Amino acid sequence: MKFEDYRISDEIKKSLSKLGFVKPTDIQYKAIPPIMKGEDVLAIAQTGTGKTAAFAIPVLDMLQYGKNRRREDGIKCVVMVPTRELALQITDVFKQIGRHTRVETFCVFGGVEQGPQIEKLEDGIDILVATPGRLFDLVSQGYIRLHRVEILVLDEADHMLDLGFIKDIRQLITKLPRKRQTLFFSATINETIKELAYSLVNKPVRIQI
Ligand code: AMP
Repeated sequence: MKFEDYRISDEIKKSLSKLGFVKPTDIQYKAIPPIMKGEDVLAIAQTGTGKTAAFAIPVLDMLQYGKNRRREDGIKCVVMVPTRELALQITDVFKQIGRHTRVETFCVFGGVEQGPQIEKLEDGIDILVATPGRLFDLVSQGYIRLHRVEILVLDEADHMLDLGFIKDIRQLITKLPRKRQTLFFSATINETIKELAYSLVNKPVRIQI
């Protein structure tokens, strides 16, 4: 199976081909179809497996069809990540795969001034990649509203727990619509991670790479 054969938009196929992505990796092969059907996913996958594109491709495809939607409608997808480096890296992947679509991706993280981030948020964006601490601060101050979020992605959930983001994550979840799609990615699994995962997902498709 090649990306050519997938029921994803021509715009996304074009960027995948430019990136040299011809065939899906194992995690992409297993995760893309259920995500496109709207199912929740619980995936155990390490970095280097192609996990970023495993959620970026279907998320971009699903959001692309709100083509005439007004940006002011609000953020449609939130991707929570543990670090600034990962936030930048994932944003880059969304931007590259989504370059021929009109889907706008932006990221926020702590350790830098809020001002420029707030300014960009005011333009309206579709996908927000964020570290939980800064996201919580911006939501608390009213700069970000999460009531229109349709898809929540947690990437490197185990790392987020190690860094002590559990409280921020739990608080943020209460601001999201209950009716949403949740994609939970972790490199490792233990009881604490399972507990968090199962409190967030609904009848997930489980994938282990
Ligand atoms: P990740 O696990 O998301 O950090 O991705 C690891 C690396 O694999 C990145 O450099 C991607 O650009 C690359 N990659 C992801 N998917 C594919 C694919 N289907 N074909 C070739 N390379 C890929």
